[in-house]
Amino acid sequence: MKKDIATHWNIGEAAELYGIRSWSAGYFDLGDDGSVQITVPFNGKRVAVSMMNIIAAMQQRGVQMPALLRIQNVLDAQITALNESFRRAIANLSYQGQYRGVFPIKVNQQCQVIGEIAKFGSRYKHGLEAGSKAELLIALASLDPEYGHIVCNGYKDAEFISLGLQALKLGHKVFFVIETPTELPIILQESARLGIRPLLGVRVKLASRVSGYWNESSGDRSIFGLTTAQLVATIDTLRSNDMLDCLQLLHYHLGSQVPNIRDIRGSVLEACRYYVDLVKEGAAMGYLDLGGGLAVDYDGSQTNYQYSKNYSLDEYCSDMVETIMTTLDPEEISHPTIITESGRATVAYSSILLFNILDITQFEPGEVPDAVEDEPEILANLRLTLKSVNQKNLQESYNDAIYYREETRELFKRGQISLRDLSLSENIFLQIVGSVVREMQSAKRIPKGLDELEDMLSDVYYGNFSVFQSLPDVWAIEQIFPVMPVHRLNEAPTRQAIIADITCDSDGKIDRFIGTRGINKTLPVHALKPDEPYYMGVFLVGAYQETLGDLHNLMGDTNVVSIRINDDGTFDLVHELDGDSIADVLSYVEYSPQQLFEQFRSFAEQSVRKGRITPVQRQAILDEFSASLRGYTYFED
Ligand SMILES: *Cc1c(COP(=O)(O)O)cnc(C)c1O
Repeated sequence: MKKDIATHWNIGEAAELYGIRSWSAGYFDLGDDGSVQITVPFNGKRVAVSMMNIIAAMQQRGVQMPALLRIQNVLDAQITALNESFRRAIANLSYQGQYRGVFPIKVNQQCQVIGEIAKFGSRYKHGLEAGSKAELLIALASLDPEYGHIVCNGYKDAEFISLGLQALKLGHKVFFVIETPTELPIILQESARLGIRPLLGVRVKLASRVSGYWNESSGDRSIFGLTTAQLVATIDTLRSNDMLDCLQLLHYHLGSQVPNIRDIRGSVLEACRYYVDLVKEGAAMGYLDLGGGLAVDYDGSQTNYQYSKNYSLDEYCSDMVETIMTTLDPEEISHPTIITESGRATVAYSSILLFNILDITQFEPGEVPDAVEDEPEILANLRLTLKSVNQKNLQESYNDAIYYREETRELFKRGQISLRDLSLSENIFLQIVGSVVREMQSAKRIPKGLDELEDMLSDVYYGNFSVFQSLPDVWAIEQIFPVMPVHRLNEAPTRQAIIADITCDSDGKIDRFIGTRGINKTLPVHALKPDEPYYMGVFLVGAYQETLGDLHNLMGDTNVVSIRINDDGTFDLVHELDGDSIADVLSYVEYSPQQLFEQFRSFAEQSVRKGRITPVQRQAILDEFSASLRGYTYFED
């Protein structure tokens, strides 16, 4: 079967196999050279660049793998898409208000990324959402006060509030969203002290619960937002302080990655009811902030599966606009400015983790030698099982093989068979599994439980990266990201593999992949060629992965390269960031690299004194020690 595929293989089949055209939102495709292409929009046409040209450019500049590749044009295009989509919905439905997006800084706080968002977003007056004091400082320094709103969620102390109030004087539109009743007295006190009237919002807990992984933020038990009693008390306090004109914004956030459009619509509807009553209570209002939740279709299935979504961006925008109109119009309430805090959907597409494969392990049976005179009986049983595999006894053969393998392991533990016999038995076991798998391919019905047998024979490809550092959600929440080789796609992949990282942790692996029908445990890959690197990419990693990552096994930040693609198909490396050196990561855990060096040097000097090494050998090993301190934490060429 595999041979057949090989002879008829073409790029179209590779695209199908990896689903790239389903999950790439048009930004990635396959080129005739067999490598992944990045394609970005330019005035109605698309310009493509081969990933292998980008990798070559990185190599020429000495940028080692693993590396995070950021594509500025993709971020730019996503901000444009979001704003244009709302603009179209607003125009088509004759909505009387405007749209103002804000990017939640926590989704990717990297300086470079926030800088790009501020720059590309300025033509739409796209703003920022800050959830902490540190993020407020980033927002105040990154946005031109004339452009973009700043929405402040999260806990706010007096310092936070005082700073935000003073920024109003600079022209920044800073909204304090009241999340808990304790914040209001501090806001009142600081605004009285400074004589500056605040811009206020309230965050409500909606009763609507949504599906998806992050649904904890929704429902009346969610930890954020005011209960209805707290909301009423807030209104009363503002009224008695003659400050209802300051209350201008209603906010809710359902949690990230909401896969089902019905949940989104239901929540907008509920929020609008709050909005109506806040207006009736006499609050100034004017802004409706629908939070984040706009999902990314990571697996390309367009379903309500938790790592997908069953709606397009246009549907999302027009459903929101339409729901607001149909709820507010009968009440004759003017249309508010719509704010969304889309983070994931804005940045996910623009980053790709690239890594090379360092090594592989194959679970392939070797030749089984003929039986010898006094062979243990258990081996004869295994040999017999192997010989008798046929289409009618697949399940039975497999069960026998498992049984005998367990038996052999027991015998070995009791010292009754040798290491060589144990090894032979494992080999025959793999032969049996291989034989069952081969028979299965032409069998009419595959017995239940055997459909995963092929996974047992899959290879392990060792990738030069750390799941914990670069893909924390793969480990923490079993998130699905698109993973695939980025070249050789004009050759049929002949192997099936899981991807292991270079931490020595058994959780440091990727073993859930997008398949043509659902999630697979293995990924089709190519056999390695001697002396030729094999590069793979993990796509759609721009949201949440960078700062949630940790230093497991002291693997540090990877190198980062940002590119800007030009309309003639060339590209510029606009920014390079060296990943952590070993000295960097050691200092994160409180070592002093200098002191480590000096301690090691004194051990080396002792060895000179004891005559174990010469002074010249001492110097050589010290040079290596200090070169290692300066080096990359990953496998270097
Ligand atoms: C995390 C967060 C967001 C971002 O949500 P996405 O689903 O990534 O768009 C928006 N608003 C608030 C309050 C958040 O906490």
